[in-house]
Amino acid sequence: MAGAAVSEARLIDGKAIAAALRQEAAAAAAELRQHAGVVPGLAAILVGSDPASEVYVRNKARACREAGIASFEHRLPADTGLASILQLVARLNADDRVDGILVQLPLPPSIDAGAVVAEVDPAKDVDGFHPVNVGHLWRGETGLVPCTPQGILRLLRSEHRDLAGAEAVVLGRSQIVGRPVAALLLAADCTVTIVHSKTRDAAAICRRADILVAAAGRAALVGADWLKPGATVIDVGISRIAAPGGGTRLAGDVDFAAARRIAGAITPVPGGVGPMTIACLLRNTVLAACRRRGLSDPVSLRD
Ligand code: NAP
Repeated sequence: MAGAAVSEARLIDGKAIAAALRQEAAAAAAELRQHAGVVPGLAAILVGSDPASEVYVRNKARACREAGIASFEHRLPADTGLASILQLVARLNADDRVDGILVQLPLPPSIDAGAVVAEVDPAKDVDGFHPVNVGHLWRGETGLVPCTPQGILRLLRSEHRDLAGAEAVVLGRSQIVGRPVAALLLAADCTVTIVHSKTRDAAAICRRADILVAAAGRAALVGADWLKPGATVIDVGISRIAAPGGGTRLAGDVDFAAARRIAGAITPVPGGVGPMTIACLLRNTVLAACRRRGLSDPVSLRD
């Protein structure tokens, strides 16, 4: 079947790229400990017991341990009021052992997530969701960049050293993925179009893309007829769908089997964007630990 393989898109191996970044973050953390006596620390606030959030927080704690980053977990009952959460954030802002504060979303519906995020010290906002960091991102200034979007750009950079002039289409305009990805692509000198649920003829716009980032959260929305031949496709979507023969499986926004025959390079789901998020969180925590102390960014963690 060698002939068939030749015409298939290259797989972008998020697992391998994330593993390399995690090692770089661990090495930078070790150097910080040796030369400045600083152990970077990441605090996670988890309110209630959303099962997906529990898994994420557990994985994050393990990744921190492996990278030599101290991990602090703050679990609060689902009925905790906004005032108590804000008090905890204030305590963590003032705690010098804590370099990064992660507010695990979603918060219970009674809590104004924006009010909590706005209270986090922007210098410790390793999720990059604070309005100050959002402003830095759109102004093209140094700040803390949201983890999944940052991971997406790293995957793209593994394929394209220079993104200047590329026609990039972002499918989705959420605060956590679509918008920050668009800002990063713009900063990389792409020509950027954002497609959303009100866009007329999304397929025709996506077909123009040299680079397509699909973050709509709709399983297999993007078929082969949405793709320009040779495009680089980053599939951010994660949906759980029924599997043939019973049970469920994870699916991306892109019809992978069909797209692989048209695209030049593509990320799988799982194993593409997913592993990059925690790796970028570790990177952000080490960067925050350095910047808060007036130290320059470790060379290995620079863009
Ligand atoms: P979201 O907040 O639900 O946003 C989805 C966006 O897609 C919205 O802007 C929506 O448009 C747009 N959209 C929905 N259906 C569309 C359609 N048929 N045509 C065009 N646009 C459409 O989702 P999100 O938080 O950004 O996440 C997107 C996906 O990425 C989800 O599957 C999520 O699980 C996944 N994700 C993965 C990671 C990771 O791998 N680490 C991290 C975060 C998210 P409107 O704004 O007009 O409603």
